[in-house]
Amino acid sequence: MLVVMSVGATEEQVQEVVRHIEADGLTPHESRGEQRVVIGVVGDVGLRKEQVMSHLAVLPGVDSVTPISKPFKLTSRDFHPADTVISVAGTTIGGGSLTLMAGPCSVESRDQMLRTADAVAAAGATILRGGAFKPRTSPYSFQGLGMDGVRFLVEARERTGLPIITEVMEPSQVEIVALHADILQVGARNMQNYSLLMAVGRTERPVMLKRGLSATIEEWLMAAEYIVSSGNPNVILCERGIRTFETYTRNTLDLAAVPLLHRLTHLPVIVDPSHATGKRWLVPPMALAAVAGGADGVMVEVHPDPDDALSDGEQSLTLEQFSDLAPLLRQIHGEVAGMATRPR
Ligand code: PEP
Ligand code: MN
Repeated sequence: MLVVMSVGATEEQVQEVVRHIEADGLTPHESRGEQRVVIGVVGDVGLRKEQVMSHLAVLPGVDSVTPISKPFKLTSRDFHPADTVISVAGTTIGGGSLTLMAGPCSVESRDQMLRTADAVAAAGATILRGGAFKPRTSPYSFQGLGMDGVRFLVEARERTGLPIITEVMEPSQVEIVALHADILQVGARNMQNYSLLMAVGRTERPVMLKRGLSATIEEWLMAAEYIVSSGNPNVILCERGIRTFETYTRNTLDLAAVPLLHRLTHLPVIVDPSHATGKRWLVPPMALAAVAGGADGVMVEVHPDPDDALSDGEQSLTLEQFSDLAPLLRQIHGEVAGMATRPR
C-alpha cells in the first residue's frame, strides 16, 4: 500500500507514520517528491490489510492510503514516481541520457578485448561489455575465460576509462566479480534464479537484469523486485527478445516493452538487439528503433572479426559497423529527447 502524506506534513508526522508501519511488522520505503512525501509499505499483511490501512489513514499528516494492486511494489512507478538514475564511474544510466553498451559476446583473449575496447571507446560507447562466465546452450561450446576474462576487462577499463559490465551465473561468483566489475549482468537464463537475484541484491553494484526467454513483463518485474527488496535499488532492465513461433530471428524483439516498462516502473530500460535478432544486419535498424521508442540505451555485441568469434559471431557487429551506428543512435536520441515517448 501507499501512504501519501499531505503537502506540508511535518518530518515528525512522517516519522510517526514510519514507526506505526514498523510496529505492524511491515517495511516502509520513503520517497520524497518536490511537493510531498510518499511512503510505500511492503510486507505480507494478509487479512490485516483493511485494519492496517484504516489505522494509518487517521494518523496526523496523512492525506490518503491506497492499496497497490500490482504484485511488484518497490519497482513500480506508484511507489517511486521519479525515474531511477544510476551513476557508474562517470556515466549515468536513465533520466534522459543515452547509454551505449558495446563489446564482445565473450572475452576471448587479451588482444581481442583490448582491440574491441579501443574501437568502441573511440566510437563513443559509454560502457564496455564482455562475457567471462558464459551461459551456453551446449555444454560443448566455449564456456568463457572466467576470472582471466574479468582481468582482461579490467585492463580494458584502465585503458579506456569505460566502466565494465559482465555476467554472473551463480551466487558464488557474485562477490569476486563485484570486486572488479562496475555492473553485474544477470542473463536471460537466470532471470528467475532467485538465490542469484538475492545475491546480486546484496551487493553495492548496479545490476542489469535481462528478460527471461519466455518471461512476461510481470514476471520480469517480480524478478527485479527480488533484487531491489534485497537492498539494491540500482537495477537496469534489458529487453533481449523473447521466444515465439518465429524462426527467421533468434528471438522476437518486444519493443512495446520499452514504453510499457516506462509506464510501469521507474527503472532504466536498455534494449539488446543482438540477442533479440541473432543477425548482424538486423542489429542497426532495431537499435535505432529502440532509441526512437524511448529506450535509455542499447547493448550491442561487437567483435573485431565476427566470423571467427567463439560465440554469437553472426549477431556481432564489426568495429566499423559499430562506429557507423553510434552517431546515428546519438542523432535519433537527440531527435526524440523531449518528445512524448514516455506515456505515463
Ligand atoms: C549475453 O549478453 O551475452 C547473453 C548471454 O545474453 P542473454 O542472457 O540475453 O542470452
Ligand atoms: Mn552473446
